[in-house]
Amino acid sequence: MRVLQVASEATPFAKTGGLADVAGALPEALADQGCDVTLVIPAYREVFAKGLPLEPTGIAFDVPLGTRQLPARIFRCVLPGSRVETLLVANDECFDRPSLYGGSEDYTDNSERFIFFSRAAMELAARQEMPYDIIHCHDWQTGLVPAYQKLLYSSSAAVQHARTVMTIHNMAYQGLFWHWDMLLTGLDWKYFNWQQMEFWGQLNLLKTGMVFADWLTTVSPTYAREIQRDPGGCGLEGVLASRSDVLTGIVNGIDTVAWDPRTDRHIPRPYSEQDFADGKYAARVALAVRLGHAAPDPRPLVAFVGRLVDQKGIDLVVDLLGRMAGSGRVRFVVLGTGHHHVEDSLRHVAAAFPGTIDLIIGFDEGLAHLVQAAADIMLVPSRYEPCGLTQLYALRYGAIPLVRATGGLVDTVVDTTPDTLQNGTANGFVFKSYDSHSLEQAVWRALDAHANGDLWSGLVRRAMLQDWSWDSSARDYLRVYEQIRVRS
Ligand code: ADP
Repeated sequence: MRVLQVASEATPFAKTGGLADVAGALPEALADQGCDVTLVIPAYREVFAKGLPLEPTGIAFDVPLGTRQLPARIFRCVLPGSRVETLLVANDECFDRPSLYGGSEDYTDNSERFIFFSRAAMELAARQEMPYDIIHCHDWQTGLVPAYQKLLYSSSAAVQHARTVMTIHNMAYQGLFWHWDMLLTGLDWKYFNWQQMEFWGQLNLLKTGMVFADWLTTVSPTYAREIQRDPGGCGLEGVLASRSDVLTGIVNGIDTVAWDPRTDRHIPRPYSEQDFADGKYAARVALAVRLGHAAPDPRPLVAFVGRLVDQKGIDLVVDLLGRMAGSGRVRFVVLGTGHHHVEDSLRHVAAAFPGTIDLIIGFDEGLAHLVQAAADIMLVPSRYEPCGLTQLYALRYGAIPLVRATGGLVDTVVDTTPDTLQNGTANGFVFKSYDSHSLEQAVWRALDAHANGDLWSGLVRRAMLQDWSWDSSARDYLRVYEQIRVRS
């Protein structure tokens, strides 16, 4: 089966979030299942800066963008660590910039940039000799791809029989632009109506993809249900409910090579489920040194690693620190970067408990690995969470996840109770209500369990043995492809 993946970012070329991890890992996992996969992404400045072996293909063409024609030049590179061909769309005006989407403010021309990219990806696909069976696009940046396939490229041999799949990674980001940007798409104004591309007077690129794609997926079964209702659907719940028969939730896998405590170069002593106590202790010593402490603290270590934004439940963490840091029973580490007001609140509470709370503001991949290895408990108290990767890494590193019951966290973490301990499914702690009291109660439950050495070791061992690799997720995507593909 020939599959084209179209995404605005993919690890290791360019990354701002979980989308890049999916777009960088799914193609190879599909190739393992026998698919012939090509990935198309933009050639950002940072892609060229990484020193990856990019080759010019000699393919160049003009892409219509409203009344202009913008040149696209195509580079090629094998997705590192895989056999997947990646085609990169270069255009200096659109992609030779310091960041992918803008800094603290989005670039004002993001609609032009990603309308250009979506059209260029389709133009490139249409120029291939071998036809595609599936065109799989991700998030609002590629939302026009399914519409282009049906409306502008329906007579192009390479793509006319393809079926389109749109994956929604986060409903909160929809690609909303003023209505005149409709002129840039090259599509007829008749599609600018409330049932197709319009959303309260604006052009909505995610909605466009959701309406025109043959199948929709999102990144966990629970999130697939949540987005069909208010507030999870962020205003598009009606569209999703009307397409629920073609909506599937598939939990993301993790990169089990980059995130493997048995081989991780970011931690001082590799470990497995057999000898995790030694490995985790060594990580605590290294973390203490890194944070400037004389010796590691013997108290259980509760950690948070993530973006310091509302979605991640960081206001609950700030409250929790204030409530629990004085208890003397626990130590906290918070690693993250995000909204300035959140960073300031964290600084304030951390300064009040210097021996108990370590706060590291910044993005540090290596430190994230070390914290996962050192931690006993990893907090993921999200307000909403489409899938979540932090809890999956935590399971693999024997840092027991403590999560709020939302989205993908529901599908991956099972609360520890007498029943779930007995039937062997327990792997973490779950609280339901979004308030710091409920979070605190769950932390106390986890600390009580931690005090019971045998129970805790069993929990850690079981968590570390769970398989969150891409294999089973890729099989689920393949099932979707098989179901919708046009058979010749
Ligand atoms: P999201 O994509 O919504 O940010 P996920 O849980 O899916 O959340 O993925 C977050 C990823 O980003 C994880 O790999 C996490 O370790 C990493 N991460 C987040 N913040 C930081 C940080 N400050 N330093 C290092 N890694 C971080």
